[in-house]
Parts: sequence; C-alpha cells; structure tokens
Amino acid sequence: MEKQGKRSNRLVLVPGSFRGHLNPMLQLGTILYSQGFSIIRPLLREYTSFNFASQCQCKAPFQECLARLTEKQNSDEEKISCIIYDELVYFSEAVATEMKLPSIILRIGGITAFMSRDAIVPQAEGNNFLQVSNSTSNYRSWIKRGSARILSPQVKGSTFFEIRVITQVVKELRNTRKSSAIIYNTIDFLEQSSLARTLQQFHLPLFSIGPLHKFAPALSSILFDEDISCMRWLDEQTNDNTIIYVSLGSITQIYENELAEMACGLANSNQPFLWVVRPGSVRGSEWIESLPEGFEEAVGQRGCIVKWAPQKQVLAHAKVGGFWSHCGWNSTMESISEGVPIICRPNSGDQRVNGRYISNVRRVGLEMENELNRREVERAVRRLMVDKEGLEIG
Ligand code: UDP
Repeated sequence: MEKQGKRSNRLVLVPGSFRGHLNPMLQLGTILYSQGFSIIRPLLREYTSFNFASQCQCKAPFQECLARLTEKQNSDEEKISCIIYDELVYFSEAVATEMKLPSIILRIGGITAFMSRDAIVPQAEGNNFLQVSNSTSNYRSWIKRGSARILSPQVKGSTFFEIRVITQVVKELRNTRKSSAIIYNTIDFLEQSSLARTLQQFHLPLFSIGPLHKFAPALSSILFDEDISCMRWLDEQTNDNTIIYVSLGSITQIYENELAEMACGLANSNQPFLWVVRPGSVRGSEWIESLPEGFEEAVGQRGCIVKWAPQKQVLAHAKVGGFWSHCGWNSTMESISEGVPIICRPNSGDQRVNGRYISNVRRVGLEMENELNRREVERAVRRLMVDKEGLEIG
C-alpha cells in the first residue's frame, strides 16, 4: 500500500546502465517510494554511454548534480539522506564520501557469484597480472591455470584492453567498503550458506531483500517492446508444462552458426518451444534471417519466435515447463520463483557461477557445458522436458 502525504527523506538512486541492472534498481525505487521516500535518479549525459572506462567522466557531473540539489535544499524534507548505487557505478561511493553523505550498495547478482568474484582478485594479484601483464597470452595462461572461470568468457571476442579494464574493475569493486550497508537482490533460502559466510566476512549490515521482481511491477517493457502475442500462443497450447522457453537475456550475443545449431536441436527435440531472439543478438544478422532452411516448418508446427517476451508472465504460464537460459541473475530468480527448471547455458561473467550453482548445488537445472551443437541441444531439451532428469523443482 502506497504511503500518501508529504514525502520526506530524499534518496538518490544510481542504477547501472545494463538492462539487467536497471530493472532491479527501478523496482527498489518503486518499493521505497511506496513507503514514503522521495526518489531522485540523476540523469547524466555522460551516463547514457556509460561503460567501465567512462567512470571518471561520470564522477564530476554526478558531483555537480548533487551539489545543485543540495544547494536547493530549503527544508529538512528536501535533504538528501542517502545515495543508493549499483555496485558497478562505483564512482558514487567516492562522491558520497566527499559530500559526507551515507551510501548503500545495491548488488544485483547472487551472493555466491560475488564470493567467487572476490576470490579472483588475489589470484590476479598473485600472478602480477594487474600490474605488469601486457599481453593477451599472459592473461589466457592465467585463466587456464586458475579457477577464474568467471572471467574466462571475456577472453573470447574481447580486446586485451577490454580484458584488462574488466579485471581492474573487479579489483576496484572489491574495494568498495566505505558504504553503510549492502543490499542484495537475492532470496535468503536460495543462498543461505553463502549469505552466512558473507555475513562473517563483512563488518557492515547486509540485507537480502529479493526477489525484487515479486514486490514491484515489471519494467522491462520500457526497454523493449514486449510481444504479447506469445501469451495467446501459450494459451492455445494443449498440455501444461510442455513448452521450453528459450531466452538469452538482454546482452548476450551468439554467432550465426550457434543460432542454426540451436534451431536444429530444438526442431529435432520435437518439443514445443517459445524462443526469444533479440534483434541484433546474432552477430552479423539483423534478426533471424540466417535460420536454416526448413526450420519454418518446425516453427509452424510447434514453435513461436518473438523479439522480446513478457518473461515474468511467460515463466508463470502453466504451459511452460522449462527455461533455456543464459543464467543472468534476474532470469535465474524469475525462473526459480515460478518453479521452472533451467537448462543452463551461461555466456559470461557471473552467469557461469549461477549456472553451476543452479545445477550442482540447488539442483534445479542442468548444465549444457559442451560445444553448442544440435545433438547437445536436442539431448539437453529432452533430458529436461521429457526425462525430467533428477531435478528437485516443480
Ligand atoms: N527479459 C524480458 N523479456 C525477454 C528477455 C528478458 O522481459 O524476452 C527480462 C528478464 O525478465 C530479466 C531481464 O530481462 O528481468 C534480463 O536480466 P538478466 O539478469 O537475466 O540477464 P541480462 O540481460 O542482464 O544478461
């Protein structure tokens, strides 16, 4: 229930600009607003093209923006009481400290993935990678030697400069310790032991308040147009728990040959499918023009392809019985909340840890680890949808 009347306690929210990061922050803002807080989200020109390298460019305009806001404060109600920032926008902490404002970190991913990520930095430092490395081959051998699986996909398709920036950012993020608290968008029971270990390690309050998508409305439609025709298509299907939903989130890209192998595997599995192919997500193609000849027949008989789906509604639909996911944290929690088991095909970053955790620890999914080819796809889809192999979900 929304609080009415005069709002007090202005909060400044600084979301990450990746789509999967924007949503949880906006959802947190919606919840806090409903509790009577007043919310400010600064819009910075520099921020629209925000990336790791542009953090320094963002800091000064952010500070100026806050200074303007504080100048205009005429009463206690208008006072900024706290900055809540997405961990990736780490320049916010320095600004908060300089302006003597309290700050809170919002961590979008799972706690387990953060623990693994923190473990990477000492390894990198131990190998002197961050200080002296100046070649991609050094980095590759470090990745091979270490258990730094979380970063390894970044090697593929990244320039050395990008790899180095990413590694340094991980180190930078690890140093954000001056904030007053950390909020995690996770579920206590899902990551109980990781949460307990993290509580021992940190000397500041931690709050796990997820899954945020359950407490605030879906906001993904402001980013892409949702094709709701797929909901009608789902309604028309005959049996419950029979559709495999395929979506690789808002950032992941694949190659044309991977699209073709996915298509053939889905067709050969004989399972009905709802497949999200985001425009621009297939390298070298605009959309699905590179799909193999004859695939339309499988789509006509038992498939539906859309550019963007209302994912939360899709996962809550009775006809959906499985999710082939890239294991982004939002998708992971959305699927688990609806009791839908997952085929884990992580692509990069924390998705690898999430995939391992979903399949090996929580046993609510299975990993498709080998090279992406039609036989593997067919096998994974049948294991999940037909054999319902060893899954403790549903
Ligand atoms: N999503 C959606 N429709 C789609 C695909 C994804 O609404 O067709 C939403 C999904 O519900 C999730 C977000 O996009 O909230 C993706 O976030 P996630 O953390 O899973 O992955 P990322 O996009 O950050 O890789």
